[in-house]
Amino acid sequence: MNSEMDFENRIVSTGFSEEDKDIENSLRPKVLSEYIGQEKVKDNLSVYIEAARARGEALDHVLLYGPPGLGKTTLAGIIANEMNVNIRITSGPAIEKQGDLAALLTNLQEGDVLFIDEIHRLNKSVEEVLYPAMEDKALDIIIGKGPSARSIRLDLPNFTLVGATTRAGQLSAPLRDRFGVVFRLELYTTEELSRIVSRSAGILGIAVDEEGLMQIASRSRGTPRIANRLLKRSRDFAQIRHNGVIDADAANDALSRMEIDELGLDSIDRRLLTTMIKNYNGGPVGLETIAAAIGEEAVTVEDVCEPYLMQIGFLSRTPRGRCVTPAAYSHLGFEKDAQQSLL
Ligand code: ADP
Repeated sequence: MNSEMDFENRIVSTGFSEEDKDIENSLRPKVLSEYIGQEKVKDNLSVYIEAARARGEALDHVLLYGPPGLGKTTLAGIIANEMNVNIRITSGPAIEKQGDLAALLTNLQEGDVLFIDEIHRLNKSVEEVLYPAMEDKALDIIIGKGPSARSIRLDLPNFTLVGATTRAGQLSAPLRDRFGVVFRLELYTTEELSRIVSRSAGILGIAVDEEGLMQIASRSRGTPRIANRLLKRSRDFAQIRHNGVIDADAANDALSRMEIDELGLDSIDRRLLTTMIKNYNGGPVGLETIAAAIGEEAVTVEDVCEPYLMQIGFLSRTPRGRCVTPAAYSHLGFEKDAQQSLL
């Protein structure tokens, strides 16, 4: 394993890199009808949006959860757009003090969307300001200190809080309960991803044929952000080595040079599975132990690697820890020893 390849540079990393930001914005669908996949979410959301608009009210607070890169930020933007209101974007760790949140809330206009990414990382005291804001559209401010301190209540405009999190389980119950609408985003199918890649190729003016699309889509581990990133890298290879068109050969060439195999696993996934097989006999192993063994953060392993490895049936979670499945053994070319498979 090349140790210089950290998570930030990982081509199939689902996080945001600097390079992504400009292109990502141009590729974000702006209206619900352009948002591909997540059919159940779209169906329900379109009803809620239409109903709120007909009543002339703000949409109820919405919690979006699911692995990174699946379209939570995009959906928040679409909600604001469809409701014809402004969106303010912030994140849990960026709101350090109660005053930071108070400033954001008092600057909202009637109906606005406040998007808080990584909402599970809000600190407790900030969260307490959010409760009355979400429930009563009110901001309680304490003036003065000690015995003479008193609390005054400010009215806020109607607004919609859209919270996004990779881990709904880490949200405190009082916060979770204040969301009227909760949507879980699912990993995308290959067919949906190929529509996303085709749309992105159209916007960026990239030539790609059907097989090229399928290659990219099937190796994007269910994640639009990765699909768009693989499209851009494949374009480079197509341009320099394959006459400019991303066909099956060009896509294959690009993906194998990026060490992404035919299932979308990269060297970190393979290292994770191989370490579990070689050092821990395939598991069960605790999350912290695996993360330490491969030198990654436990949250990264849990949020980025595991959802896809579980989806394709390479990893299972048991009460005693994670286990590598027989399918992963054979994909990586290992024999599962007889004794282990009897367990
Ligand atoms: P998240 O907030 O969940 O990390 P984003 O909303 O930033 O994910 O999505 C990452 C990128 O993936 C966006 O720029 C967008 O181009 C693309 N994308 C996400 N979901 C969809 C979708 N349903 N249809 C088309 N493109 C999408």
